[in-house]
Amino acid sequence: MTLLPNTAFTHTALPGRVVFGRGTARTALAAELDALQARRILLIAGPAEAALARELCAPFADRIAATFTEVRPHVPLEAAERARQAAAGADAVLSIGGGSTTGTAKAVALTTGLPIAAVPTTYAGSEVTPVWGLTQDGRKTTGTDPRVLPRTVVYDPDLTLTLPVPLSAASGLNAMAHCVEAFWAPHRSPVSSAVAAEGIRALAAGLPAVATDPTDLAARTDLLLGAYLAGTAFAAAGSGLHHKICHVLGGAFDLPHAETHAIVLPHVLAFNAPAAPDALARISIAYGRPDPAAGLHDLGLRLGLPTGLRELGLREDDLDTVLDGILAVVPSDNPRPVTAAGLRTLLHAAWAGAHPHGEETTS
Ligand code: NAD
Repeated sequence: MTLLPNTAFTHTALPGRVVFGRGTARTALAAELDALQARRILLIAGPAEAALARELCAPFADRIAATFTEVRPHVPLEAAERARQAAAGADAVLSIGGGSTTGTAKAVALTTGLPIAAVPTTYAGSEVTPVWGLTQDGRKTTGTDPRVLPRTVVYDPDLTLTLPVPLSAASGLNAMAHCVEAFWAPHRSPVSSAVAAEGIRALAAGLPAVATDPTDLAARTDLLLGAYLAGTAFAAAGSGLHHKICHVLGGAFDLPHAETHAIVLPHVLAFNAPAAPDALARISIAYGRPDPAAGLHDLGLRLGLPTGLRELGLREDDLDTVLDGILAVVPSDNPRPVTAAGLRTLLHAAWAGAHPHGEETTS
């Protein structure tokens, strides 16, 4: 049996250099900045990561021209504009932090063209995608631009040791969502599917292990590798139903990004699975369970994550206000047609924290 009969696809391989390994933020970062000829660097780090960032930059402190710490979730346009002002005179941007920090660096690169060196401290994966996002008046706009793709990424699992278990779990499931959705997103290819499958395997191994022992470096390494693969698969395959839902909800109600993904993913997987048997088979093998939607829902419960969007403060009547906005952006080749009624049922289940197959959730 051939795996992919009549295979035909287009795959865009993205440039970018990755240095991966324990201790690399201390041993490799300066050389990476040298390679970018970065002499007047704008350092971007969120308030909680600023001390770590200053410590990592101490060996080349004379090259830090400015530091910007006003990092906000979903990159509000006002914060982006202040970061752009802080970049005046800089010749490179160094971001040290999670997806919001990388996103702020991308906002700067979008208008200035400055090269980015990224040191991720969560599993968001933004550092290997050319996707930027900005939020204005409760509406999140995203776009793709090669200028925002970091030129170099330094992945150091040691930096993720401080990520608390709930954040690790939510962020790891955000990465899982990149992988799962890569199987039906509009620009999927055998290349993105292969990367996504390996990402699922690494994340499925790392998530429970980190929850049991957050200092388990082998598990932290699995998760960070999984996050890299997840971002790579997402960058190639693009956004499908899951990302469109999370994007509209996140922008409209300022929901926490990773938790929103963790809650919605099992529901989108359960919705699409009957119409995407090949994707389901490959996701199941990589995940190591025959029913990955139920598995991911149970995993979220075991990791102590909120299971319903209502636990994030969303009201039930908020759901109707986003239906049309989501329907307008769902890719037309989603495996299962998305009707208003189908989407309402899916969103309601995700809001209530129901089991993805409709049964009651017991925690
Ligand atoms: P985040 O960057 O907002 O970080 C979440 C929290 O984790 C923050 O409080 C931060 O201070 C803390 N934190 C980060 N690293 C830590 C560490 N090592 N130890 C302890 N605390 C740490 O959240 P996120 O989930 O990483 O990123 C979400 C953002 O990234 C969203 O805006 C999302 O849209 C964006 N994103 C973009 C892409 C893309 O391709 N453009 C992909 C994924 C996510």
